[in-house]
Amino acid sequence: MSRDPGIICFRHCCSKTIFCKSVPEICPICRSCIANYNVEPFLIPYPYTNAVYQPASIIVRPSQGNFLNEYSILDDLHIGITNSKGMTFEYDKQGVIINDRSKWTDCIALKITPTSWDNHWDETLQELLKDIKWKSDNYDKATMNCFNFVIEFINNLKYMNAMFTSKENICDKLLLSKIQEAVKYNSIFKNLKNNDYFIT
Ligand SMILES: [Zn+2]
Repeated sequence: MSRDPGIICFRHCCSKTIFCKSVPEICPICRSCIANYNVEPFLIPYPYTNAVYQPASIIVRPSQGNFLNEYSILDDLHIGITNSKGMTFEYDKQGVIINDRSKWTDCIALKITPTSWDNHWDETLQELLKDIKWKSDNYDKATMNCFNFVIEFINNLKYMNAMFTSKENICDKLLLSKIQEAVKYNSIFKNLKNNDYFIT
């Protein structure tokens, strides 16, 4: 389980952004004592969360390893669903897996419907689980996988225009911006491992 490393960013004397874990007294760019800022220091939101605290959401994590330390943009993703109680549901080669929560402590969670939809969300999920096609024998890495499970769920919800046709389609329309944000965060985190500052 990874923890929010508390990355702060600010601007002092120019348009360059300084990332750090604690704000210095001396600016690492102009070397003067910092009295005021171009952009006041603020904490960058940590992109990862524990699925248990993300009810009625779509949840994503790398198929292997964890986001913060091991993920790169071409790595395979695994996708699942939480119900309104924060229980996790996912489909893989073992069939439907319910509440394997230790695997979802550092995921990206997307809330795609308002909380007023939570009952309908749970009912739609229950209906999906009744379908016997989600068994391990039917699993196919390319044509019947975790993405098919989640796509069918979202399409059955019939929420506004949230409809997806394929893994590529849901990645582009729903996941890409979040994943890009996360990869950016990972790179800042990596740069701050051995340095006090990272300047862009
Ligand atoms: Zn400065």
